[in-house]
Amino acid sequence: MLQHTVRSLLKVDAFVDGNWIPSEQRFSVYNPATGETIAEVCDADPALAERAVEVAYKALPAWQAKTAKQRADLLRAWYQAIMVNKQVLGELMSSEQGKPIAEAIGEIEYGASFIDWFAGEAERHHGELLARSADDKRSWISKQPIGVCTAITPWNFPNAMITRKVAPALAAGCTIVVKPAQLTPLSALALMQLAAEAGIPHGVINMLPTSQAKAVGKVLTEHPNVRKFSFTGSTAIGKQLMAQCSSGMKKVSMELGGNAAFIIFDDADLDLAVEQLLAAKFRNAGQTCIAVNRVLVHDAVIAEVEQRLITALSKLKVGAGHEQGVDYGPLINQEAIDKAQLLQQQAIDAGAEVLCGGKVLQQLGPLFYAPTLLSNVTATMAISQQEIFAPILALQRFSSEAEAIALANDTPFGLAGYFCSNDYRRIGRVAEQLQCGMLGINVGIISQVYNAFAGIKESGIGIEGSSFGLAEYQVTKTITLGGFT
Ligand code: NAP
Repeated sequence: MLQHTVRSLLKVDAFVDGNWIPSEQRFSVYNPATGETIAEVCDADPALAERAVEVAYKALPAWQAKTAKQRADLLRAWYQAIMVNKQVLGELMSSEQGKPIAEAIGEIEYGASFIDWFAGEAERHHGELLARSADDKRSWISKQPIGVCTAITPWNFPNAMITRKVAPALAAGCTIVVKPAQLTPLSALALMQLAAEAGIPHGVINMLPTSQAKAVGKVLTEHPNVRKFSFTGSTAIGKQLMAQCSSGMKKVSMELGGNAAFIIFDDADLDLAVEQLLAAKFRNAGQTCIAVNRVLVHDAVIAEVEQRLITALSKLKVGAGHEQGVDYGPLINQEAIDKAQLLQQQAIDAGAEVLCGGKVLQQLGPLFYAPTLLSNVTATMAISQQEIFAPILALQRFSSEAEAIALANDTPFGLAGYFCSNDYRRIGRVAEQLQCGMLGINVGIISQVYNAFAGIKESGIGIEGSSFGLAEYQVTKTITLGGFT
């Protein structure tokens, strides 16, 4: 496997049919830590999107005709190429996204794990022989690739949100066209270079960096040759794209926004609770879909929890991603800073109190936000109802288990949830009643390839990862064979 440098993996053109496609129209990609321009990237237009879908359609028969083992071997070669280059991929990601390099490498490994896992799933998937209903007939269910797939992904996980879709699609025998986020196309394009080196055939994966999300997204959701669309992003955009898919009755997967509650009961181990809360909140500067948005703390322990958090937050190191020992980096752009400040100010105006932080760390740059602790937050404040996507801990209090559950469920979203308790009876009760697709009990880091990543309510439809992830890219065909004697 070729060992790359950041320079040799810095690709700036669209990737269609195995070729790098330049364009005169380009857009800039910035380093959020410094504001510097890193690259001028090809701005794919709807015509190129049409071409990419047609290319994926043409590549489909040969790809689905490969044996499961042949597809698995190619996926494993791609996995190896990524793992050999994880340091360089991490540096590239950190420069366009802002997360610390160590965390970026963690995402590269997490992203690659989906390729490895679905290589295995390609070989393990099977249909079903049905019960005999007559002497002269047999019926069975066959799982087949759904066809050409398209995907649109966000900037907060520029690698893993792509591999979590592309790997199961390819494993199932589908081809795919992806539009990465405008803010982070470089990680996506580097993956294409490595896929080509791994020998994945032309046209099987195609990547369209663009600043024209709406127009390109229309092609990816409405083109008649597309059978499946997978989206990760905000609920508002997900709803629009799902509506667009409905005209062609396309299968959809929607991995959308969340509003996770982290409940600390009065019987919790507070050392563990604070440690896990920090892990669940400050990863990626609070910019994850499963980040803690609301911290619900029992009256009996709230004063103690506040004191412990003030101490813990004072120890967090904020800085550019390439600096050693940094806990988190800049927010993605000025819009993210403005949103965090607005939500914080509205909360203060309604009675919340800043216990620490609450400001931009101008000495580091305009996008670095201090670790922030707000107390006296209530359920009616906007900060409790919208995704904060910033390093702000918003503490609400409760006085009973029933109140904590009601507060946690009082949201249209249902992605992740967390709670800390040492009472096994409570753990059983609360786990059953919380309305979320993923739940961490006494733990704040809950993502791994074996888990079913899936939201309920307005957080989405469909499953990524796990033994269920492959089926998202398959159709079920029932076949009946007659004429037995
Ligand atoms: P977003 O604004 O919905 O954008 C996501 C993607 O959709 C980007 O590629 C964006 O392109 C594209 N897009 C925006 N408007 C579009 C349109 N009209 N037509 C077609 N494509 C369009 O979300 P974001 O701010 O980038 O990402 C953060 C959101 O993603 C949060 O809500 C977070 O919770 C969610 N998320 C969910 C998961 C999950 O697994 N459930 C994982 C990660 C993130 P541009 O880049 O050009 O704007």
